[in-house]
Amino acid sequence: MNDPLAYLGEQLAAWKQAGTYQRLRVLESESAAEARFDGKDVINLASNNYLGLTTHPKLREAALEATRRYGVGSGAVRTISGTMSLHMQLEERIARFKNVEACVVFQSGFAANAGTVAAVLTPEDHIVSDELNHASIIDGCRLSRAKIHVFPHKDTAAAERKLAELDGQPGRKLLITDGVFSMDGDIAPLPGLVEAAEKHGAIMMVDDAHSSGVLGRNGRGTIDHFGLHGRVHIQVGTLSKAIGVLGGYVCGSRALIEFLYHRARPFLFSTSHPPAVAASCMAAFDVLEEEPERIQKLWDNTRYFKQGLRAAGFNTGVSETPITPVIVGEARTAHALSAALFEEGVLATGIGFPTVPEGKARVRTIVTATHTREDLDRALEVFRRVGKKLGILGG
Ligand SMILES: *Cc1c(COP(=O)(O)O)cnc(C)c1O
Repeated sequence: MNDPLAYLGEQLAAWKQAGTYQRLRVLESESAAEARFDGKDVINLASNNYLGLTTHPKLREAALEATRRYGVGSGAVRTISGTMSLHMQLEERIARFKNVEACVVFQSGFAANAGTVAAVLTPEDHIVSDELNHASIIDGCRLSRAKIHVFPHKDTAAAERKLAELDGQPGRKLLITDGVFSMDGDIAPLPGLVEAAEKHGAIMMVDDAHSSGVLGRNGRGTIDHFGLHGRVHIQVGTLSKAIGVLGGYVCGSRALIEFLYHRARPFLFSTSHPPAVAASCMAAFDVLEEEPERIQKLWDNTRYFKQGLRAAGFNTGVSETPITPVIVGEARTAHALSAALFEEGVLATGIGFPTVPEGKARVRTIVTATHTREDLDRALEVFRRVGKKLGILGG
């Protein structure tokens, strides 16, 4: 009666011993600035719902209307019979918003990254990739079987050296980076990377998951933020974070998009979004253009909360965006801080190795446009109190 999966239970026991075992928090309300998890009302600093669009009345209504008219499912993958007019309209809407030729929507940002990198490269090719790039980029790189060259985080000179070494070698080159890094909240040095890519004839690809709806005019992302229009060949965005719904997209030339229609495996082999998802995403882009004050509020809240954490004496690392880590060192401490915060009515996730390096464990906070000043003051007060109690803060 030997259980061939017994090793899994042993691993779980070891995680419990180390204090890094994580139970899933269960959300029992809407995903909003104040929400109910596991029977407790808390200030939610753990969502990617930057602009509060998960509950926006226009998105809600668009989803309901699309469901009434078109049902709940698309019935097939895009290439068989699952391309609905709503999917085409959404792609055109995003392309117009991003001022690019064309756009393809995927089921998730993860699928967009993994599917695209794997589709456009072959084992003869080379990828030059920031060491902190998102898991979906790493998986896409592995799936492509191209040769992977990792450069130190945000080290433009190292990226350029690697590209220079590859000059004259067979195969294509792809330079790839997150626009905003999800664990530290810092922004990629895009102007320098774009220049390096241009100098060495590399394809430039940017994953704007945490910058879509956050950076650039009306949330157009890091390419707009830095004024690099026309110089990034593959722009990835997500519909699951600031947009408030679900999905991912790739923007670029018409040829890139049509190629992905033919070769991106999640596009070919996984069913397309339900009508409600496509319709509510479209409504979200209208909201980005009609309600820029949401982005303004997001940044006001970001500055206020970050300043409050720093003034209290917390180490917030190198964050430049609404993602603000509170770095505490050991994973056990991060999880203890997260648990204590929750007891006091604040939800912020503890994150340790291997998601972040050993010794850099943290509690990650993300404020949104819909947090009130009172929410933020209360959260800061709890952070200070719990930080002192756990010995993370002096005094
Ligand atoms: C969240 C995230 C993704 C994945 O997006 P989903 O739409 O949630 O699948 C991809 N890249 C980065 C950098 C992310 O932070």
